[in-house]
Amino acid sequence: MRIVLLGPPGVGKGTQGRRLATERGRALISTGDMLRDAVAKKTPLGLQAKQLMDEGKLVSDELIVGLVRERSLESDAKDGFVLDGFPRTVPQAVALDAMLAERSIKLDGVVLLTAPDDELVRRLSSRWECPVCRRVYNAQTAPSKDGRHCDDHPETELRQRADDAVETVKKRLEVYQSQTAPLVDFYRSGGRLKEVRGMGPLDEVYAALSSAVGD
Ligand code: AMP
Repeated sequence: MRIVLLGPPGVGKGTQGRRLATERGRALISTGDMLRDAVAKKTPLGLQAKQLMDEGKLVSDELIVGLVRERSLESDAKDGFVLDGFPRTVPQAVALDAMLAERSIKLDGVVLLTAPDDELVRRLSSRWECPVCRRVYNAQTAPSKDGRHCDDHPETELRQRADDAVETVKKRLEVYQSQTAPLVDFYRSGGRLKEVRGMGPLDEVYAALSSAVGD
């Protein structure tokens, strides 16, 4: 199973993608998480990406494609993966198809998660993340058990992401519209797109996603 989860920031790609990958025994490849880890470790990649991420802008296609190329060759991704946050531009999608074709494999599907903008802004402003495992909580709708620490890492305090500040969220939504939304037509015209509404209880969204992905 090789799946792309597409959709605006805050729509639930991370939360639903993590569950899908875990339940299907596939690797979750989240480019945002990989970049945040690189920033935290102050690697050359992290130092290069930090400012762009803080401003809500995209890092270069070349850099991201190289990152995904390497990550998708790791052993846990051999039998399949769920891509969260990649591709984000048409050139990235073209590069992904080419990369998979080189390996004589292809995507099994692309699922677009949708939600209205005001809901996305509301969710992102109450989003908290575990800096260790990157599990995401929502202060209003899906808090951790004690509201402050990660359920899986009880010693670790949850943090808000720097790019979830209101002004940066607006920028990220603009960037999504201008650079990522064209992927909807790219995949739809290739007959590869399924749509799932990312609203309502998490379990219901997951059930719809799981059935869109198929077996
Ligand atoms: P995310 O966690 O997916 O919202 O990603 C956080 C930030 O990482 C984005 O706002 C971008 O700055 C950067 N990023 C993540 N994935 C990509 C990508 N595929 N292409 C370019 N930049 C990315």
